[in-house]
Amino acid sequence: MNTQEIAKLQNEHLMPTYAPGIALVEGTGTFVWDAEGNEYLDFVSGIAVTNIGHCHPKMVQAVQDQVETLVHVSNLYYNEKQPQLAKALAEYSGMPGAKCFFCNSGAEANEGLIKLARLWGSDKSKYEIITMRQSFHGRTLATLAATGQEKVQTGFGPLPEGFVYANFNDLQSVEDAISSRTAAVLVEALQAEGGVNPAEPEFLPGLRKLCDEKGLLLLCDEVQCGMGRTGKWFGFQSYDVQPDAFSLAKGLGNGFPIGAMVAGKKLADIFQPGHHATTFGGTPLACAAALSVIEVIEEDELLSNTMMMGAYLVEGLCEIAMKHKKWISGVRGLGLLLGIVLDVPAAPLQKKVQEKGMLALATAGNVLRLLPPLNVSQEEIDQALRLIGEACAELHDEMAAQSPTPCQCGVGE
Ligand SMILES: *Cc1c(COP(=O)(O)O)cnc(C)c1O
Repeated sequence: MNTQEIAKLQNEHLMPTYAPGIALVEGTGTFVWDAEGNEYLDFVSGIAVTNIGHCHPKMVQAVQDQVETLVHVSNLYYNEKQPQLAKALAEYSGMPGAKCFFCNSGAEANEGLIKLARLWGSDKSKYEIITMRQSFHGRTLATLAATGQEKVQTGFGPLPEGFVYANFNDLQSVEDAISSRTAAVLVEALQAEGGVNPAEPEFLPGLRKLCDEKGLLLLCDEVQCGMGRTGKWFGFQSYDVQPDAFSLAKGLGNGFPIGAMVAGKKLADIFQPGHHATTFGGTPLACAAALSVIEVIEEDELLSNTMMMGAYLVEGLCEIAMKHKKWISGVRGLGLLLGIVLDVPAAPLQKKVQEKGMLALATAGNVLRLLPPLNVSQEEIDQALRLIGEACAELHDEMAAQSPTPCQCGVGE
């Protein structure tokens, strides 16, 4: 099928929740191809999912081997892959005595965290969870309520009670939101969906201290910034802080659906038989996929590659930003979760780089989010920088042509 045929079929049979433009049919490493055979440099990675690149041979092999052996058995039976994966996640989290629960998505992992915090607080009559404005925690009813953005909530009320919002990077605002009913604070180390806003160096340590003083749980949503994305296994590790529990999904299975919640000692045994369950959670197949992802991150030293390539990409982006100071205000992020912050809408820039053969993601209106795989090469980043640079120069000329006074920012000098 060509793109037009696929689009027609989709428009007839799928709810119009998304508005895709191109149809992708194949991928390898950092590249994907559309139905017409056009090649794209993929700096979206399925939104921080395909962290080891498309169709990584080790993952393909692991999934193939497992699919021929055992796909699903239900959690009524032991399956050896699940504790192996849980052990690895607990070790990399650095949280002593940590235990896992596996599920299928980020929203489901966060729902689990919410239930865990409520059960922990139930004998103390504590159930409120403080979350941050501009956060993103998912699209189920409880995670919508946890998401501090009105635009995703409108029309879906009444939402579950018990969520209170505070300002990100504002400890006083969090402290002001605490009541006798507060059980937990839920936070992303880096707000990705909300515009690629990393926590300031003092914020997470300050939250940890505040939670300890007030007897609250600190929960981290690591769905997007976990699994090496920031250059550490988990985003909170950039701040030398340990949460009481955290959620994972996106990058965990490199595209094989799997989510997890990881709880430290205090919360590891709160859930008892009957408290929580999910049919597909932690199948041998999903866990085999995730184990192969962890193995590749470890063996190919992808955390250090993320740090190095992230720094290299930031340097190149800053050069581009300097050339367009009039409408690019800066570059921010951690590791390979980066954003170019514009003073104009980001959608036209996203469109332009896509026409040039590169996928990037407009976020929060004015931010172009870049999420290459963690094994991206320097050559691929050079190619991305060239395409972004060209797109910015063209956009600059178009904006100059539209503006009533001649633009004097001196592109191409
Ligand atoms: C994507 C995302 C979610 C939701 O994950 P789904 O798998 O889409 O349910 C939750 N939190 C964060 C930080 C995310 O980026």
